[in-house]
Amino acid sequence: MNTEEIAKRNDSYVMPIYNHLEVAFARGEGARLYDVEGCDYIDFGSGIGVSSVGHGNKRLVNALCEQAQKLIHTSNLYWIVNQANLAQRIIELSKMPMKVFFANSGAEANEAAIKLARKYGETYFEKKRYKIVTFKSSFHGRTLATLAATGQEHFHRFFSPFPEGFVIAENLQDIYHKIDEETCGVLLELVQGEGGVRAFPKEEIQNLERFLKEKKILLMIDEVQSGIYRTGTFLASQGYEIFPDVITLAKGLGGGVPIGAMMSKYGDILQAGDHGSTFGGNCLSTRAGMEVLEILSEEARSGALQKRIDLFHSKLDILCQKQGFVCKTGLGLMLGLEAKNEQIRQDFIAQAFQKRVLVLRSGQNLIRFLPPLTISEEEIEEGFARLGC
Ligand SMILES: *Cc1c(COP(=O)(O)O)cnc(C)c1O
Repeated sequence: MNTEEIAKRNDSYVMPIYNHLEVAFARGEGARLYDVEGCDYIDFGSGIGVSSVGHGNKRLVNALCEQAQKLIHTSNLYWIVNQANLAQRIIELSKMPMKVFFANSGAEANEAAIKLARKYGETYFEKKRYKIVTFKSSFHGRTLATLAATGQEHFHRFFSPFPEGFVIAENLQDIYHKIDEETCGVLLELVQGEGGVRAFPKEEIQNLERFLKEKKILLMIDEVQSGIYRTGTFLASQGYEIFPDVITLAKGLGGGVPIGAMMSKYGDILQAGDHGSTFGGNCLSTRAGMEVLEILSEEARSGALQKRIDLFHSKLDILCQKQGFVCKTGLGLMLGLEAKNEQIRQDFIAQAFQKRVLVLRSGQNLIRFLPPLTISEEEIEEGFARLGC
């Protein structure tokens, strides 16, 4: 099928929930994608930070093939070896004594975090606490509860009423005003992904951590986008030198296989019957997670990841200057360029697509870069050359 035929069939049978660019991909290799006509694209978006080890990664593909031949799914009615192994690996790499629950997406990981916080609020205080403070411009998912937690009005149209108990803070200082005696947790992204690739200042986050610890209010960090080495360390929380009570993961963890995770110091709050998932942590997705973590932890240990980060930053600085962008934002390989206005952003993304470089949008006026964490020097050079530097 050519692109036109695919578009036509899609429009006939698939709900029109997404705005598509006029392309369908047939295969990929590293940070390169090939469309159905055989044209190659440099992928600086990795499917919104999901294809963390690139496309067609041999080690991941082999691990998945082997696992698929043995066993794909059994359900959580039985022990799952890969699930226990992946949980152990996540805890080792995070160096945080926690326990893990596996879900299938970022929104579900955050839902689990919200439920954990609610149970904590109900059982750890004399008077029940249930409120969760979140942030303006945040993004936590598309379920009703995670939408209520998301501080962006335009996602809220049409869908009220929402679950109660979510309070949106305007900025870091406002959090202190929004907390009251019914607050059980604060949920935030250290680097806002959808809301503008904005990294919060480290010191202010550390102050917030100290304050919340004193009050026994849970610090919950949504690392669905920033986790799994995206900002250079396994968790962005490690770069910030904080020790949250709850952390959620998803996007990069399965290298494209759907998986989410919620980890917490309060590892025994949710008990049998309190929560669950049919697919969560199944044999295949947790095998994917294991291989992704093996690949990326080696890349981090050898210094290869940092080299890539440095090269990408220097290229982006040049692009920023050459094309008159306002500034470069973000951390590690979670980066943004701020355009002067919406028109400039749109034009840039359209031109990049014509030159066959895939980039993402974020927040207002931002162009977002989330390349595969295994992107080669050659692929970085080629992508930026196509963008004119
Ligand atoms: C993408 C994202 C989510 C939602 O993840 P889904 O897998 O789409 O449900 C939640 N939080 C953050 C920070 C994200 O970037």
